Amino acid sequence: MKLLVTGGAGYVGSVVSALLLEAGHEVVVLDDLSTGHEDAVPEGARLVRGTLRDTASEVLGGAGFDAVLHFAARSLVGESVEKPGLYWDKNLGESLALLEAMRVAGVHRIVFSSTAATYGEPESTPILETDPTRPTNPYGASKLAIDTALAEYARLHGIGGVSLRYFNVAGAYGRLGERHAVETHLIPNVLKIAQGDGGAVKMFGDDYPTPDGTCVRDYIHVTDLGRAHLLALEACEPGRHEIFNLGSGTGSSVREVVEVCREVTGRDIPAETAPRRAGDPAVLVASSDRIQARLGWKPERDLRTMVDDAWTFLRSR
Ligand code: UDP
Repeated sequence: MKLLVTGGAGYVGSVVSALLLEAGHEVVVLDDLSTGHEDAVPEGARLVRGTLRDTASEVLGGAGFDAVLHFAARSLVGESVEKPGLYWDKNLGESLALLEAMRVAGVHRIVFSSTAATYGEPESTPILETDPTRPTNPYGASKLAIDTALAEYARLHGIGGVSLRYFNVAGAYGRLGERHAVETHLIPNVLKIAQGDGGAVKMFGDDYPTPDGTCVRDYIHVTDLGRAHLLALEACEPGRHEIFNLGSGTGSSVREVVEVCREVTGRDIPAETAPRRAGDPAVLVASSDRIQARLGWKPERDLRTMVDDAWTFLRSR
C-alpha cells in the first residue's frame, strides 16, 4: 500500500514507519520536525517537511495514497495545561485539515494515535473502550475530539477509521527510541539517572491507594504497539470507526519500574519520594480484550524487555 505517515519523525511514528517498510509498504512521512528528528525517519521513507494544515492536501491530492497513519501531535499533559490553545490548534485543528484533505483526495482509511488520557480518572480497572470518556486535561480532550471527528467522517463520508488508545509506551526498536527535548516519562528519566546524569529519581507520590503507594501504569513495548498499527490498517472498513485500547493488561508501580531498571542496568539508581504530580490518576490499566478478540493482537514483550531495549538505545547515543 502507499501510505502517508504523519509524525513519522517522532518516537512511535518512526517505529511504525520502519515496520511498514519492512512489510513492503511505500511510506511517505509528513512531519514539521517541531518535535521529531529528521534522522529518525527510516531509510526508504520519503520525508515531506511541513504542517498538516499547509501541506496535507497538496501531498494527498491525486497521489494515489491508500491510507494515512496519523501520529503528528503535541503529547505533553503538563504543556497542554499551560497552553491549551496550542493543543486544540495543533491536535484538533491540524487533524481536521488532514481529514478534509483525505475526503477531497478520496483517501478512505486512517489509523489514529489516540490515548488513555481520553478516559480521565477511571471508575473501574482495567479500562474498557465502553467506559466513560472524561479527560482531565487539554491533551486528552483534544485527542477525544479527534476520535469524535473520526466517527463523524466515518458515518458521513465513508472513511474507515481506527483509533488506538495508547497506555504507557516504552522501549525502543533498534536505533529508534524516545528522544524528547524535555523528558517527562518515567523510564527514560530513570535510565538517564542510571547513566550518571546525577540526582535521584523522583517518585511522585507514595500515598496512593495502590499496593506500594506509588502510581500503577500499564506499560507497552513500542514494537508491540507498532504491530497493532499494521493489523489496524488491514482492519479499516469504509464507513466504520473503531476504538481499541492498547496496553499489556498488567499494571506496574513506579517503585517496581525503578527496581526493574536497577536490575537491568546493574546500577544502584537512587530514588526518593517527591510530592504527587498534579493530575496523576492512581491506577491506569487497559483491558486489551477487544483488540485481542477482533484483530488477534497480543503483547509479546514484558517490562524487563522494554527497559532493556530503552537502555541499549540510550547507551548507543
Ligand atoms: N513518574 C515519577 N517520576 C518521574 C516521571 C514519572 O514518579 O520522573 C510517575 C508519574 O507520576 C506516573 C508514572 O510515573 O505515575 C508514569 O508517568 P509517565 O510520565 O511516564 O507517563 P503518564 O502515565 O503520565 O502518561
